[in-house]
Amino acid sequence: MIDYQPLIQRWQKTELAPWAELLPAQLARGLAVERYGDLPRWLAALEALPDIATDRIHLDRGRVGADCSPPLDPDARATLRKALQLLHPWRKGPFELFGVHIDTEWRSDWKWDRLQPHIDPLAGRRVLDVGCGSGYHCWRMAGAGATEVIGIDPTPLFVLQYWALQKYLRQPGVWVLPLGIQHVPPKLAAFDSVFSMGILYHRRSPLDHLQELKACLRPGGQLVLETLVIEGPAGATLVPEGRYARMGNVWFLPSCDTLLGWLRKLGFVDEALVDVSVTTVEEQRATEWMRFQSLADFLDPKDSSRTIEGYPAPRRAVVKARVPG
Ligand code: SAH
Repeated sequence: MIDYQPLIQRWQKTELAPWAELLPAQLARGLAVERYGDLPRWLAALEALPDIATDRIHLDRGRVGADCSPPLDPDARATLRKALQLLHPWRKGPFELFGVHIDTEWRSDWKWDRLQPHIDPLAGRRVLDVGCGSGYHCWRMAGAGATEVIGIDPTPLFVLQYWALQKYLRQPGVWVLPLGIQHVPPKLAAFDSVFSMGILYHRRSPLDHLQELKACLRPGGQLVLETLVIEGPAGATLVPEGRYARMGNVWFLPSCDTLLGWLRKLGFVDEALVDVSVTTVEEQRATEWMRFQSLADFLDPKDSSRTIEGYPAPRRAVVKARVPG
């Protein structure tokens, strides 16, 4: 069921040929049973997914998914639900497959709605989504007309969630690869749009990350960046000591003006702030598809404007910028 061969073959005739050459070894390592002890269990879950003839595919609505007609009977629906639940925890979504609503931890559709009206139209573009999770936004990008969407994420469970969805959505232009940004060959200059959402604050060297993203873009291509920010003037940056909202790997939270300054310093142009919003406990919460703790548990119970560690509560900005054309 997991087969990257069509992508590798297609790339062999394009400027992505150098990456196509590296991919077989990268993919083998990214989904190596010796490295990920849970992988056999998740692969079994994939195999347990029932075959269902898809009637309609929905990429351009909040709940990405598929329908069949006539609708699944309750028993078949329960079988599908059980197989999908084996891929718990589902973080990014929502999805709805044949009447089964995968109510993920995140309302990732809200993020999409905040940024989509402001970015370069994706019709006909080749897109890279760095740290794409289950690929939720990748499908939305395809729904917006992108011809090729490459998501990368080094967490194998999320990659298998993508394959579970792909079993039914069958999009030849949408791919999620089990890789991190560090596996993308340098100086590709091959993508029309590059997205990095929810990644920058996890990088210990945020300017190096922005530089890596820039190198993926063709001249004139657009970066769409979403990350945690703080309020404050140009120059302000929070480097949390210890944890931030219980996350151990959070490094730099710039103010919006600091972030725009970083982009200019690296040679991006047309940089602009698209949206700032405080993350609510309606947008990120525990559900039956993500049964661990979530945002409400990471905030100060007496003051929701603070994290449990006393830092400003999560506030996210979307910025866009272009590589000179
Ligand atoms: N972009 C999605 C998901 C963000 S969560 C969204 O905005 O909703 C952050 C994701 O980054 C996780 O899925 C995690 O697996 C992934 N990640 C972690 N290290 C990474 C790396 N080195 N390169 C790319 N992605 C990484």
